[in-house]
Amino acid sequence: MKPDYLPTLDLKRNYRRVKEEIRRAVDEVLEEQAFILGPALSAFEADVATYLPVPHAIGCASGSDALLLALMLLDLKPGDEVITTPFTFFATVSAITRLGAKAVFVDVDPHTYNMRTDQVLERLTDRTRAVVAVHLFGQMVPLETIEEELRSRGVVLIEDAAQAFGSWRFVDGTPRRAGSWGDLGCFSFFPTKNLGGCGDGGMVTCGDDGYASHLRSLRVHGSGKIYYHDEVGLNSRLDALQAAILRVKLRHLDEWNEERRLVADRYALLFSEAGLLGDVTPPAALEGNGHIYHQYVIRCRERDALQAFLETEGIASRVYYPLCLHLQRCFSFLGYGEGDFPAAEALSSEVLALPVFPELTGVEQERVVEAVGRFYRSRQS
Ligand SMILES: *Cc1c(COP(=O)(O)O)cnc(C)c1O
Repeated sequence: MKPDYLPTLDLKRNYRRVKEEIRRAVDEVLEEQAFILGPALSAFEADVATYLPVPHAIGCASGSDALLLALMLLDLKPGDEVITTPFTFFATVSAITRLGAKAVFVDVDPHTYNMRTDQVLERLTDRTRAVVAVHLFGQMVPLETIEEELRSRGVVLIEDAAQAFGSWRFVDGTPRRAGSWGDLGCFSFFPTKNLGGCGDGGMVTCGDDGYASHLRSLRVHGSGKIYYHDEVGLNSRLDALQAAILRVKLRHLDEWNEERRLVADRYALLFSEAGLLGDVTPPAALEGNGHIYHQYVIRCRERDALQAFLETEGIASRVYYPLCLHLQRCFSFLGYGEGDFPAAEALSSEVLALPVFPELTGVEQERVVEAVGRFYRSRQS
């Protein structure tokens, strides 16, 4: 008998664990018939603020909007520069260019896949207004290496924590959670994120009271008092239904993240026991990081052939990301070219994301590693 197709993420298994709680929460909102802003959203915002912890959490319509709203606070002018990584999801960079600012890239660390903070410091100029640090695949950028320099220059530190809800980093013995460290934190609740809703959703976090009230106005067309507009904002709220569902899931998130970490440990052990560490490099967590493995991304030889082979074996995998952002046609006006960020470019042809989700079983992981082993053995003979 052929084994079932193994997806990279099986949301149905996760839903079964919390189905009753979620249906109760949805029912409550339906009984209230208050769908925009209102008590369900305020309750979720308060829970996130307590969890991280962070003074303010403001729900919005998506992670992409969270980045846009955060950057809108800065009133960017043409020529202003925002430093970020070319190895991230598209929205990190489109938020910068959409507002007319210049995206300035730095290369990534080949082990953690995160932006190199030493290069961030080298690229600071008088025009630098912000740094967007992306906590890619579930582990944090070591912000302690740049935060003081940025603060002294008045450069705003924005965390793109769309892949890192609940991730932490120990600094001087204290854990700092993603989204609670920089001036602003941006989250996505897209269904496939490790804290995912049943549709689009996002959130901006911050410590500054002025930022918070400005964000609350920007998400309702820039109006403080209804039908009076101080500036041109967006229509970007987190729906009450999504907030109620996410509030249930947040209560389970630490447990689920812990399960992801166990899955990652098991993969590393299995790859090592199978003698595959010459062919496959498991992801590395930076010392001090609590990696929550939003994605489990290996580096491997003959990536495309391996992916095709796994597919024929009924095992899904994904490539995040096949083309760096500095090489995307829509960003050609930035003037970058091939060879500008060698580490990021090498990753784009070597990375492969394997199935990872809290409910993934040991037997399924053995199946994945066994198939990877068979692929590389077939290439030797
Ligand atoms: C998913 C994601 C976003 C955008 O979130 P959406 O909710 O899909 O708009 C931004 N940045 C990163 C790193 C992401 O992974």
